[in-house]
Amino acid sequence: QATEALKSIARRQDLKAHVERTPALNGLLRRAAARYVAGATREEGIEAARRLLAKGYAVSLEYIGENTTDAAECEAAAGEMAALVGELGELGITARVSFDLSHIGLAADDGLAYEQLLRLTRHARELGIEPFVSMEESAKTGRILDVYKRAAISDSGIGITLQAHLNRTPGDLAGLEGIGGPIRIVKGAYQEPAEVAIGRSEALNERYLQLVEAALAQGRRVSVATHDEALIEAVIARGWASHGVEFELLYGIRPDLAGKLKASGYPVRVYVTYGEEWYLYLCHRIAEFPPNLYRALADVVGE
Ligand code: FAD
Repeated sequence: QATEALKSIARRQDLKAHVERTPALNGLLRRAAARYVAGATREEGIEAARRLLAKGYAVSLEYIGENTTDAAECEAAAGEMAALVGELGELGITARVSFDLSHIGLAADDGLAYEQLLRLTRHARELGIEPFVSMEESAKTGRILDVYKRAAISDSGIGITLQAHLNRTPGDLAGLEGIGGPIRIVKGAYQEPAEVAIGRSEALNERYLQLVEAALAQGRRVSVATHDEALIEAVIARGWASHGVEFELLYGIRPDLAGKLKASGYPVRVYVTYGEEWYLYLCHRIAEFPPNLYRALADVVGE
């Protein structure tokens, strides 16, 4: 409940407007967000990516946003993503660009999401950038997979994220046999009804490992996107880390663990976010791990 409460606070436009109108509050929250978000602008996102690349990490970039219902705003979001892809290509930066389909059309109309996805992925592929679809709440999973499959059926370069906590996911992965490209496996960030998902548990970690194994058996590259050290250890113990698996962690979360994995010679990718919606992203990170609230307060008072 606390998780959903924080996420709904994040979505309240009146609160967001208040934060934007109040420079002191805006400044404080921006300082707290700086741990998790590279900045408000594309330049800041790319700069963070370059710093990570120089240290030997691979990178993903996301322009933050979701649930955009206005078609013009969807076009604007896709435009920003295309500009990001173009700039990365120009700079010769190899990266993955991740996005929510509901940011570029799915919340308005599936056809729009499909067209934008196709346009974006063609552009990205021409420039050697890897397009990657994020996964959203379970009410949208089927539609996201349908749009993804339509675009990926003839392009094995488009990746997709699957959530281990959803009971449907093993079947969804089986249904992707022969379609599309790399798979990112996450536990799942959304609070879901008990009928459709399982919570954080041994059973979830077990299912997560089965999904990694099944995706590898399909011949795919797999991103193990988690900060759960026990799970990462289990992947390493099975010998998968040298066979098509990379570890992927969110910017600002467990950088110590990312560094340790890299120092041990494992491929590690860091997921960098940027955009004016940094406030939404900060609330999400606190909602999913409430001790981050104390960290945010410490960041604000400059500890
Ligand atoms: P958990 O069991 O939740 O956490 C394990 C440990 O990791 C915790 O005990 C803590 O030490 C640390 N930790 C976890 N979260 C935090 C945090 N916020 N701050 C500080 N420490 C933390 N979810 C989706 O639903 N759709 C997506 O498309 C998606 N994309 C993702 C992409 C990447 C690269 C990553 C890493 C995550 C993504 N997620 C996505 C989020 C994911 O579903 C989880 O909510 C998130 O990764 C936390 O779960 P966990 O696997 O780290 O394990």
